[in-house]
Amino acid sequence: MIRIPDLLRKYAAAAPDRRALHFEGRDFTWSQTNDRVHRMASVLHGFGVGPGDRVAFLGWNSHWLVETYLSPSVIGAIPVPLNHRLGFPELVGLIADCTPKILIVDRHMAETGARLMAACPALDRLIFADWDGSHPALPPGTLSYDALITAGPPVAEDRFDHLASCDGDTLILYYTSGTTGVPKGVMLSHLNLFANAAGTGPLYEFSAEDVLLLSGPLFHLGTGSRVFTALVFGAGMVVQPRFRVEETMQLIQDCRVTTVTLVPTMLRMILDHPEFDRFDFSSIRCFTYGAAPMPVRLMERAIEKVPGVTFCQGYGMTEASPVLSVLTWKDHVPGSRFFDKLGSVGRPIHYGDLRIVDADGRQLPVGEVGEIVIRGPQVMTGYWNRPDETARAIRNGFYHTGDAGYLDEDGYLFLAGRTKEMIISGGENVYPIETENCLSRHPAVAQCAVFGLPDELWGERVHAAVALHDGVEADAAELIAWCRSQIADFKSPRSIDIFREPLPLSPTNKIDKTLLRARALAPKEEA
Ligand code: ATP
Ligand code: MG
Repeated sequence: MIRIPDLLRKYAAAAPDRRALHFEGRDFTWSQTNDRVHRMASVLHGFGVGPGDRVAFLGWNSHWLVETYLSPSVIGAIPVPLNHRLGFPELVGLIADCTPKILIVDRHMAETGARLMAACPALDRLIFADWDGSHPALPPGTLSYDALITAGPPVAEDRFDHLASCDGDTLILYYTSGTTGVPKGVMLSHLNLFANAAGTGPLYEFSAEDVLLLSGPLFHLGTGSRVFTALVFGAGMVVQPRFRVEETMQLIQDCRVTTVTLVPTMLRMILDHPEFDRFDFSSIRCFTYGAAPMPVRLMERAIEKVPGVTFCQGYGMTEASPVLSVLTWKDHVPGSRFFDKLGSVGRPIHYGDLRIVDADGRQLPVGEVGEIVIRGPQVMTGYWNRPDETARAIRNGFYHTGDAGYLDEDGYLFLAGRTKEMIISGGENVYPIETENCLSRHPAVAQCAVFGLPDELWGERVHAAVALHDGVEADAAELIAWCRSQIADFKSPRSIDIFREPLPLSPTNKIDKTLLRARALAPKEEA
């Protein structure tokens, strides 16, 4: 039987005084964390929360959020970490979708929490995780998380075992990023998250010696899954409220962090930081990155800039708990056998049957681009409340990722973009990633995003949004000519919007192509 809170109990018994978690200058041992989680489970039970009920959390990263990953499952309930960067109507929509009884907020989201209580009939109670005694925005009846859990005597660990969830039961509900539509609730089981941690651990080489910095958003599984990694391997966690480049660098130094998970945008901010050399990164063994395409040029620059530090890439999605493939640190070492695979997302993890298929589900041979599908213990049990979408996504036992790619003769997976993002220009299929990789190799280009725009002649045309490096000039014609000298004409952009500022990001720090597309389509103002 796999029950994630059992791991917490195990470390609380074996290494009670060892630091499990560091947050804003405070340390929590395994035994303290275990105690807090079981006390909270008891509080939730007292409020009438039972098996299958949802408990939502809206706030920045904190130890309260990490605890809320675990306490509901002790009584069979399901936590839902909400994206605090969403707009109010979007949050109302998510709460209407998952109908939690309890909402836990922190001081950053107090006002929003109070408004949600008034707007969402599903919510019974508001718990305040970061109580300073008197928050003006809080409605009467708001409860303090810490006061609630310190009120009673310690709670016996096994008191609620008859209610606890395990194995294939839903451990947690995450919403997808909403990059390709409305965010969908993904139900992940104990087994799913255990399989992800255990299956990727040897590739990332996690161990109890690790100190994992969680600075990306925990409401997103890329960072959130690291909580389960820490539990499976007994590693320590350093939780940063949210990514702030200088604070992140300071935390790495001060807490002797060994590994941190970043999206490409964050890695770029660290590398480009003017005081990069002031910080001591000697504790870091590996920067792990993923969640969005990593420009090869940026990775090459990173490898040159921090010799001695290794990098490791994960590719995945919420529905797959999340990792499907890993480009290991060895593949990032110049001169190593597979260093030329830097533009790939590595090899599929062992606990999964990953294939490339055509539109009819037929398996494609090596080198051919098709949809990436996977079967295995890390595939979600389904979408919350969306049986039709679940049936569309999981067919013949395989989860259809909506990403396109191919496997090469060495078994490395190369992404070609989202199947939805494929551009059909003059009858030719173009995957934006290839064009993006080409553009990002131009010395003037800091960031780029490629997508299709409707075109009378071509059906769709390849369009790029490009942000230039500071103080560097380049115009659209020059960049188009550059692409045409490197890749086929039909893959090269036919139009480019040049930006002097960074490209807009979505709430999970992916380049916001939806917004860029809308801007590109909006009638241009006459100069
Ligand atoms: P939605 O499903 O709501 O449209 P989303 O797919 O962006 O949003 P996530 O589950 O957060 O939501 O992101 C998964 C997607 O991110 C993958 O399908 C893939 O397109 C992209 N991705 C993840 N890792 C990588 C990576 N290493 N390189 C390139 N792209 C990646
Ligand atoms: Mg998706």
